[in-house]
Amino acid sequence: MKLPLVPLLLAAACLTAAAQETDTSGVYAPVAGNLLRTGLGRLGAYRMLEELTSRAGHRLSGSAGADTALVLAKAWMEERGFSNVHFEHIMVPRWERGKTEKARLEIPGKRSVPLSVCALGGSVATPSGGLNAGVIEVKSFGELESLGSAAAGKILFFNRPMDPTLLNTFEAYSGAVDQRSRGAIQGAKAGALAVLVRSMTLVIDAVPHTGAMGYQDGVKKIPAAALSTKDAEMLSALLHRGLLLRVRLTLSCRTLPDVPSANVMGEITGTLNPGEVIVIGGHLDAWDKGTGAHDDGSGCVQAVEALDLIRTLGLKPARTIRAVMFMNEENGLRGGRGYVTDALRHGERHTAMIESDAGGFAPRGFSVDAGNPVRAAVGQWKSILELVNAGRLFSGGSGVDISPMVATGVPGFGVAPENHRYFDYHHSDKDRIDKVNPRELEMGAIAEALLAYMIAQEGLPAGTAPSSR
Ligand SMILES: [Zn+2]
Repeated sequence: MKLPLVPLLLAAACLTAAAQETDTSGVYAPVAGNLLRTGLGRLGAYRMLEELTSRAGHRLSGSAGADTALVLAKAWMEERGFSNVHFEHIMVPRWERGKTEKARLEIPGKRSVPLSVCALGGSVATPSGGLNAGVIEVKSFGELESLGSAAAGKILFFNRPMDPTLLNTFEAYSGAVDQRSRGAIQGAKAGALAVLVRSMTLVIDAVPHTGAMGYQDGVKKIPAAALSTKDAEMLSALLHRGLLLRVRLTLSCRTLPDVPSANVMGEITGTLNPGEVIVIGGHLDAWDKGTGAHDDGSGCVQAVEALDLIRTLGLKPARTIRAVMFMNEENGLRGGRGYVTDALRHGERHTAMIESDAGGFAPRGFSVDAGNPVRAAVGQWKSILELVNAGRLFSGGSGVDISPMVATGVPGFGVAPENHRYFDYHHSDKDRIDKVNPRELEMGAIAEALLAYMIAQEGLPAGTAPSSR
């Protein structure tokens, strides 16, 4: 095909500019091209995700699904010939949902209607026959405080939506999730008998979304459940009509003693600096709703696929690149903390921690948790990362599992995909493999492989201690 001359010249000028930005483009642009062709040609991450979600299913810490996932992940890494494949043993909390979780709304003069609820992770049960009480709605802890004793003896309904006007859905989530994480504590202090929390999602539908909640020593533990957004809207509308509504809530969840579990990892040992480690990872545990396809099956299979792409292309990283599948991100962070303890014990130096835990959607770039020298160094690679559609760099939020390592001063990076759909599925029955696109998922693995390989070859500047941020 004949192309007009001017655009060609422009393209040449752009290429020259990119080459001047970093003198490494001649080395890594072909690597980026090979990663793309190999990854998109085989879609290896999706194949592993199919196996994980069908064989292990949901994988809450300490469950049979989590144990199956550990065995499966170890086998993937052994089959691919990674070095030093092993479990890193930890103890994890164990919480079970139990068989019963239901709620009915009693409307004066009418038949009661069912509400779509699910227990929040860590909640205590209601009495076996359920708990029946009037309902009171608030949108914030401040509003709860202003009510005085009005919530005493009631089921407290937290109904502040995620802010839909924010571009970043993770920011919208952060702005609403205090209701879920601390609602039962604040509710109990106000004398409430239980809390219902509007699900953390931007869509209005009938599916409740679970997630971690907490209690406080010395404060009564009251049951806590998520309510679907559709039912939250209905309940709120009826309350605003001044109706004296009651809800019967029944939950049969329970907390059991801690059980043994593990992180699982394998690596390609560095040829020049084997004692310097770049971690790529995600968390293997997932809530017991759906099958954790996006959260965070995606991050786990991307880590294995990224390392395997590097191996398949015959690349020999100068520093060690290690794939780590952490356990217990959702309700304890024992895996992330255990990793730091072990790394310190073994005297390892970590050059960078990279996590993918924002869904298996098409990547746009990376979030960076590090000081300015590191940000400047990685900024030099933007044009290379852009070859795999991952050239945008965002601030902070690199990943929960890697946060304990990042807190010790190791630079943290998080794969930052398009995020508009993430909370449609997050922690719910909808988080299944049919919501994952094989090419988009693979692109995350390709982006991770490219960044990890460049860091392995080039290193990162010092001066990344938290105090220098
Ligand atoms: Zn996650």
